[in-house]
Amino acid sequence: MTVKQLINLLGLPPQAMQEQVATWGGKPFRARQLMRWIHQRGVRDFNDMSDLAKDFRALLQQNAVVHALPLNFQKLSADGTYKWLFDVGLGNAIETVYIPEQERGTLCVSSQAGCAVACPFCSTGYQGFSRNLTSAEIIGQLWYANQVLKDKPLTARLNAATAQSPQPVSNVVFMGMGEPLLNYSQVLPALQIMVDDNAYGLSRRRVTVSTSGVVPMIDRLARDCPVALAVSLHAPNDELRDQLVPLNRKYPLAQLLSACDRYLQYAPRDFITFEYIMLDGVNDADVHVSQLIEIAKRVRCKLNLIPFNPFPQSGLKRSPAARVREFAQKLMDAGVVVTVRKTRGDDIDAACGQLAGDIRDRTRIAQRLPNRARITIHQEPA
Ligand code: SAH
Ligand code: SF4
Repeated sequence: MTVKQLINLLGLPPQAMQEQVATWGGKPFRARQLMRWIHQRGVRDFNDMSDLAKDFRALLQQNAVVHALPLNFQKLSADGTYKWLFDVGLGNAIETVYIPEQERGTLCVSSQAGCAVACPFCSTGYQGFSRNLTSAEIIGQLWYANQVLKDKPLTARLNAATAQSPQPVSNVVFMGMGEPLLNYSQVLPALQIMVDDNAYGLSRRRVTVSTSGVVPMIDRLARDCPVALAVSLHAPNDELRDQLVPLNRKYPLAQLLSACDRYLQYAPRDFITFEYIMLDGVNDADVHVSQLIEIAKRVRCKLNLIPFNPFPQSGLKRSPAARVREFAQKLMDAGVVVTVRKTRGDDIDAACGQLAGDIRDRTRIAQRLPNRARITIHQEPA
């Protein structure tokens, strides 16, 4: 007996959905209807898709599913930051973080379980690479967050935390776990769904791919779906960047900066965001200021200085706040556009890559102390 494989429609971009629907004898408008039911109304049960013909719904029941990721737990921070941990099998988990602000709601999504790039300041890097997420698992994070944000009791709790209504997800950033451009075949369809008017309808400038610098894939992204680009720079010369972002040994700075320049012809914004983690005594000296000024002359950019979120194995320290201010001021005096990232959700470890490491430790603790209560909230959205 062969077990029939059901197709998960959650990860199909518009073109693939049309082709799939055509194999069931459906017209393109049926595909658009399906996209709207799944992504805009959050409906998973084909029987509830009331404007689809009965026999078409029966075909869907037999051949397809809408399957999001199973949730491990979710946590709400005192500042309204929300964090979800999803189970991706074999003891692996990925994280998704929602950050509410006055005018927008930003969702930080993961693209891989673990990461092979192994940057020494990143706890995801310390976990090694487990596997690529599928497009359905990437979109599932956005789908899920939207369901939660529509859920009345939960939004009441968010309101209480922030003293304002949470914004729906208006921006997506690929700054969770993983290197999105090393999982291009799954990240591209996820991006196409995010910007599709029948799905999430986000403009390309409100979706940001963050990369450690996979040069050939930056060029592919420019052609296929040029969303906003953030590049994890972290060091202004090859010698240091080889250490901090090991992918630099394959794609050194000169190649990376040229790729950024090329990308600007297609980008929805007229600058590239360079991310720069401030590490005490490592990349925060005056010589680095001068080198960054040279880079900013070469590529139109905004420099985002990120306070390092320390974790024990790294052996690294956050630059003191006064040093960050001074560093930023020197760059601004030279005409570089600089922002300093505020840390959010500190009380729930919502910083990049921190949580999944956490959960493994927690599992070990739980194994040692089987009766220990876990302080988590577990709630499936309606
Ligand atoms: N792999 C991609 C996207 C995920 S990492 C990339 O590297 O760009 C997203 C961001 O989180 C990167 O800018 C990364 O530098 C930052 N990050 C990783 N570990 C961090 C830490 N310990 N403290 C602060 N930011 C961190
Ligand atoms: Fe991977 Fe990005 Fe972490 Fe580097 S910073 S290890 S590229 S997730």
